[in-house]
Amino acid sequence: MKSNHDTIAAVSTPRGESGIAVIRISGPESQPIIKKIFQTDKKISAFRNRRVYQGWITDNREKIDEVMVTFFFSPHSYTGEDVAEISCHGSPFVTKRILDLIIKHTARLADPGEFTKKSFLNGKMDLSQAEAVADLIHAKTEASRRVALYQLEGNLSDKLAEFSQQLVQACSFLELELDFAEEDIQFTSLDDLQKMLKKIDAELKKFLDSYERGRLCREGVRMAIIGSPNVGKSSILNCLVEKERAIVTEIAGTTRDTIEDVLDIEGVLFTITDTAGLREVQDPIEKEGVRRAEKTLKDADIVLLVVDGSKSLSSEDKKIISRIQKQQKKLLGVINKSDLRQQISADKLKKLLNTEEVLLISALTKKGIDMLINSLKQTVISGDLPMHGELLLTRERHKQAVFRTREYIHHALKAMNEKMSQEFIAFDLRQALDSLSEISGKKTTDDILNYIFSEFCIGK
Ligand code: GDP
Repeated sequence: MKSNHDTIAAVSTPRGESGIAVIRISGPESQPIIKKIFQTDKKISAFRNRRVYQGWITDNREKIDEVMVTFFFSPHSYTGEDVAEISCHGSPFVTKRILDLIIKHTARLADPGEFTKKSFLNGKMDLSQAEAVADLIHAKTEASRRVALYQLEGNLSDKLAEFSQQLVQACSFLELELDFAEEDIQFTSLDDLQKMLKKIDAELKKFLDSYERGRLCREGVRMAIIGSPNVGKSSILNCLVEKERAIVTEIAGTTRDTIEDVLDIEGVLFTITDTAGLREVQDPIEKEGVRRAEKTLKDADIVLLVVDGSKSLSSEDKKIISRIQKQQKKLLGVINKSDLRQQISADKLKKLLNTEEVLLISALTKKGIDMLINSLKQTVISGDLPMHGELLLTRERHKQAVFRTREYIHHALKAMNEKMSQEFIAFDLRQALDSLSEISGKKTTDDILNYIFSEFCIGK
């Protein structure tokens, strides 16, 4: 049976050859294990906290590698337990030999995310900070790094604590009143309580509204390039990612599958998908391409609608436009082939798309591509990258919890309006508080914990 108090070990650096690799051990047996497998020039009677020791890992028959060992004693470590970190040479063979030796000496192999889980269980960080560790490990751009680090520093936790404090205050007003109900003592007017709850609710709403921006900074933006065949969709993808990613030909229907690539636009990750033209087709392969294009359209955060400016708008273009508008997505219209004689006016397309901006570009000469890149970022993440100090909701789990908190507050306000017994109001407010506490993990279940830590890799 696995226990949270087991001594665990894992290689914390990626598999592959590297200058160094780090093996982490955490738990009560960390020091005794190191004492058995680590040899130094001078005899060391006791290791000291946060000290680095140079020496050799040995299995008593022979030296396995020359290493550095760092100690972090409980509670001043990442996990809150005794931790030892072995920096060895980064060969997968060397790390395996050392790890096998550690496991032979009573440690067990760590589960994915188990070091961070221990950190959470030992009160070193709350659940939102543990999630931020995963976000920082997976950060691919400046925006995702910033939002993750800010959350890791405990800023979300502090904000939530503020909200919780206000809700606790509201609950305590009511509960005081409940206790003294028979003596008919009023400690605060229900009017004041109502005002207080409305203020908390307005702040929570503002916080909830930050989710879209937060999510896009954390996860990146999914963009679909949509348009009739041959308007230049693949050429635009190639221009944006500056390589020949998709095949470009004058034959309609070349792009049968969706083709994806990523682009870092000033710190925001864009995953760009070039789709097969959306149109009626018979060929089964093309049909599948169109089905995938439709799915890409559905999942997209922004749609780049492309038309060929050298031809007047076809009925196919118009059909596509009305299909996109049904999806109510963020939309950017592009007239391509501006190097040729133009048949479509930007104003006409603006009207059709009901947008304020339509760009004129040429994927062939690259004219207007810089403008397109700039508009893409502005359309999706209005303003600058999140600055240090800007708190955003970044995860669906957090959004759901804040949403539920607001629902309970609304319920409480309704109960107050309907002059229901104060017990009902107090009950709703306690539920609101519990929902909010799910984010920090004060109220949580094993399922939620398992789900969150399964996102990590082994060694984290
Ligand atoms: P898709 O089917 O929409 O992906 O279109 P492609 O990118 O495959 O391009 C179709 C044809 O249009 C190819 O022959 C391209 O070389 C050409 N094309 C693409 N963009 C431009 C452009 O800006 N100007 C001109 N003159 N031709 C272009």
